[in-house]
Amino acid sequence: MRILLHICCGPCSLYPVKVLREQGHDISGYFYNPNIHPFREFERRAEALEQVSENLNLPVIWDESGYGLDIYMAKIGTELRPDKRCPVCYRIRLEKTAQTAARMGVPAFSTTLLYSRYQRHDLMKKMASDIAARYDLEFFYEDFRQGWVEGIEMSRSMGIYRQPYCGCIFSEQERYAKRAERMRKRLSNESPS
Ligand code: SF4
Repeated sequence: MRILLHICCGPCSLYPVKVLREQGHDISGYFYNPNIHPFREFERRAEALEQVSENLNLPVIWDESGYGLDIYMAKIGTELRPDKRCPVCYRIRLEKTAQTAARMGVPAFSTTLLYSRYQRHDLMKKMASDIAARYDLEFFYEDFRQGWVEGIEMSRSMGIYRQPYCGCIFSEQERYAKRAERMRKRLSNESPS
C-alpha cells in the first residue's frame, strides 16, 4: 500500500520506515511541523531528516510553508497547557498530512508521532481515524513504540541529531523549568533588600 508518512523528525522516522517497508508498503515521507521552534532547532531537525532521506533512500515531501511559528501560534491561541495545546498540535499536522495524501492520490497516511513514548496514542489514533474518514483515506496505525530502543540505536549509528525536547517553545521552557526556578531563587536572593 502507498502510505504518506508524516515525519516529526529524522530519528523518530527510522524505526517506522523500517517496519513499514518490511511489511511491503511504499513509503513517502512528509515534513510538516509548524510546532518546532526556534528556527535554529527547526533547521537542525530538517537537516537531520535530509540525512535520513539520503541514508534510507526515502523520498520526502517538504511542506512549502517552511518554518511555522506564526501558523502554530495562531492555531493554539491561548491554550498553552500541554493537555490543551498538544491535541491541537496533533490535529494541525494530521489534518495537513491527510489533505496532502488526498491531493497526491495516496490512499493512506500515518505518522512517526506513533514512535514516541511521550505522545498520547489513543487520542492520536481516534483523531487521525476521524480525519481519515473525512478525506476517504485510511489511517495506518501501528504501535511503533516497541522499537524505541532500536530506533535510538539506529540514529546513533548514523550520527543523526537527536533533539532534546518535543518541539514547541513551551516544551523547551518545560525542559528547563527546574533550572529556571533555581536561577530565579538565586537572583532574587542576590537582590539588595
Ligand atoms: S509538547 Fe510536543 S506535541 Fe505538545 S504542543 Fe509542544 S510540540 Fe506539540
